[in-house]
Amino acid sequence: MSEPLRSVERRFPGRPTLEGAGVRLRRSFSNNEVPLFDPFLLLDRFGSTNPADYLAGFPWHPHRGIETVTYVLDGRVAHGDTLGNEGVIGAGDVQWMNSGSGIIHQEMPQETNGPMAGFQLWVNLPAREKMSVPAYRGLVASEIPEVTTDAGDRVKVVAGTFGRVEGPVRGIPVDPTYLDVRVPAHGEFEFAPPAGHTAFAHAIEGAGTFAGSDAAPVPAGETALFGPGGAVRARAGDAGFRFLLVAGRPLHEPVAWYGPIVMNTNDELATAVRELRSDRFVKHRRPIVEE
Ligand code: MN
Repeated sequence: MSEPLRSVERRFPGRPTLEGAGVRLRRSFSNNEVPLFDPFLLLDRFGSTNPADYLAGFPWHPHRGIETVTYVLDGRVAHGDTLGNEGVIGAGDVQWMNSGSGIIHQEMPQETNGPMAGFQLWVNLPAREKMSVPAYRGLVASEIPEVTTDAGDRVKVVAGTFGRVEGPVRGIPVDPTYLDVRVPAHGEFEFAPPAGHTAFAHAIEGAGTFAGSDAAPVPAGETALFGPGGAVRARAGDAGFRFLLVAGRPLHEPVAWYGPIVMNTNDELATAVRELRSDRFVKHRRPIVEE
């Protein structure tokens, strides 16, 4: 007996948001949607051909209790952090950063003549990992495998397993799946996230429908949250369909959220703010790079 296909439970068009020092982006979901996307907290999509929309960037700011995942589609984002890491996230690259007990970093989009575009996803940490040692993974595009299916779909596997291919990001507490899927015009795609995992798709380009949902296609920019079930099945429209497909094991823990810090209780938030004010926030400054 196979599980019925997952249907789209809710759709989120995203809302224009000003973030960082003045970056215009589109926020798909955030603290208003807790706990719908558990274990995921936030998805931002940035994309512009006008440097004034992004050059202010995200100067030095803290994080605690979460992982931030930056996936650059076009352009470059320079970064640096209190672990001693610094570099540039280029087109097709992924930075998977575990803030653990505390990190202070900056994320600065670089001026380009073409488009600057990408995503930031926040993944929650379980209570037992929130004060862990921060860690950082930088993956360049060539380290991310791409699978071509018999149906002609092209799937980049950042995390999780698609077919026989496991993505390079491993050992994350919520066992995430992170796929960048391209379905050719009128093509079909199917994937079953691990049982019990929360799953959503964010339409990047083109449009398509997901089985079991209403007939209206999900257009570029929209996020579809799937209900429980087995596989996700997508069918692309005339222009093909490119989307992120993300899944993870829900934590079912209380969420206490203050800006870039996400803990389980208000007491823990108060501690974080007190430590920030007294320069005791960052517990680990040595460079740690996980491969
Ligand atoms: Mn950040």
